Amino acid sequence: MPAQLTDVPSFDLVVFGGTGDLAHRKLLPALYYRELGNQIPTDARIIAVSRRNISSEEYRNWALNALNDHLDEIDDDIMARFLERVQYVSVDVSANTGWENLETALAGREDVVRAFYLSVSPDLFGTICSAIGSHGLITDKTRVTIEKPIGKNGTSAHELNETIGSVFKEEQIFRIDHYLGKETVQNLMALRFANAMFEPLWNSTHIDHVQITVAETLGVESRAGYYDTAGALRDMVQNHLLQLLCLVAMEPPESMHADSVRDEKLKVLKALKPMDASGVARNTVRGQYRAGASAGGAVSGYLQELGKDHSNTETFVAAKLEIANWRWGSVPFYLRTGKRLANRISEIVIQFRDLPHSIFPEDAGTIKANQLVIRLQPDEGVKMKVMIKDPSSSNMRLREVSLDMSFAATFNVRNPDAYERLLMDMIRGNQTLFMRRDEVEAAWAWIDPILKHWGNDREPPKGYTSGTWGPSASIALIERDGRTWHEE
Ligand code: NAD
Repeated sequence: MPAQLTDVPSFDLVVFGGTGDLAHRKLLPALYYRELGNQIPTDARIIAVSRRNISSEEYRNWALNALNDHLDEIDDDIMARFLERVQYVSVDVSANTGWENLETALAGREDVVRAFYLSVSPDLFGTICSAIGSHGLITDKTRVTIEKPIGKNGTSAHELNETIGSVFKEEQIFRIDHYLGKETVQNLMALRFANAMFEPLWNSTHIDHVQITVAETLGVESRAGYYDTAGALRDMVQNHLLQLLCLVAMEPPESMHADSVRDEKLKVLKALKPMDASGVARNTVRGQYRAGASAGGAVSGYLQELGKDHSNTETFVAAKLEIANWRWGSVPFYLRTGKRLANRISEIVIQFRDLPHSIFPEDAGTIKANQLVIRLQPDEGVKMKVMIKDPSSSNMRLREVSLDMSFAATFNVRNPDAYERLLMDMIRGNQTLFMRRDEVEAAWAWIDPILKHWGNDREPPKGYTSGTWGPSASIALIERDGRTWHEE
């Protein structure tokens, strides 16, 4: 089935950090696929910027190698068309040199969308935004996209937002959380708000609890230096997991308009019950992986990868959250994320309540409560677990089956990467899947006390063997409530 595409206006996309890892692995492949999908207007341009002193020709060769590394299949004609629109400009942002090269490259194109993508270290976000402003590069159709992390805590996020906000208006700022661009995450909204049958059940009367798991099998590897200054709570929970939680828990927005959706997400973040020291001790678990086995091979522990004897940085977090509002009072949300876990899985599990009464005889078997499992990766799709009569039994025996909606198989389309969608939305000026300033700051307001109490805690993160599901305390966190983590 051919993809239905929304028109995109012509643009100049300026990628700061055009020679970096994100550009290599995500941005260039995403843009190539949009070229392949004929979504990029004829005269649109991609201008890669970094401090390296290379020509556009050399950059195009580098880009071609990057694309060869990351694409399964390449169409030579499309690739030639794509590379033709790519050029390179050298600007050293720290030394404040080369901006005139960018001014020249952009001159005379004030009528097309001018999109700046900051795929550089966050330390440079403020400097770049200020320089874009002072060099007069902001037009009526300008937007700026910033990557995570947005701050290290509430204060630094606020400062960064102030700096960027002094140059750009909020409607020009696109704070990316690539989880929001995932097909299944958008499907969560379709499932909730395009079907009449879920929303009446979407509350504490019918839902027992919600689980959100984002598990990786990889360790920190070459990112150890950065990771050690962040940890799983900042790197994953503050943004991706809380954003997923918001989409599960928010009230129906008035429309898909960016501010309608973001207003509702903000209300959820504001309703998260803050944790004091004893709440943090009781409701959070932090862990750090040790040596073990992953994907069949022996792997080192975090400290070995980091090359240090000691670090209190967590590579695993589990937490039990409460949303203090009418819809979700008494429904715990269990979140967990970590590196070097048993499987690479991201999923949301909506666990419905047990039946109030069973009419079936005891030998019919156990009646399991319904579950809705929304799988973000690796195989995006939704499963609804329901009880049926076992067709192989002549008696009334009950069995749980999965109504399996695997999107890629159903529609026979390539599953687009989140960056494809988000880049095109940004060019079109659609902020629905991007985080607003107040959302980011509200998320930090909930995270900050946890960071503070962990900082005061003399106990280091709990060790867990690579290739397992994290520290045993994470299992205890949910099992003490008579529940178990969904694992299959
Ligand atoms: P990287 O270190 O691989 O690339 C950084 C880029 O910035 C390079 O192109 C480099 O030349 C350029 N640069 C550095 N100093 C410069 C200067 N003074 N002037 C001009 N250019 C300069 O980083 P990355 O992994 O690509 O990450 C980029 C951003 O994306 C960061 O904010 C990171 O947190 C975020 N991010 C990255 C990933 C990922 O998978 N790589 C995932 C999520 C978010």
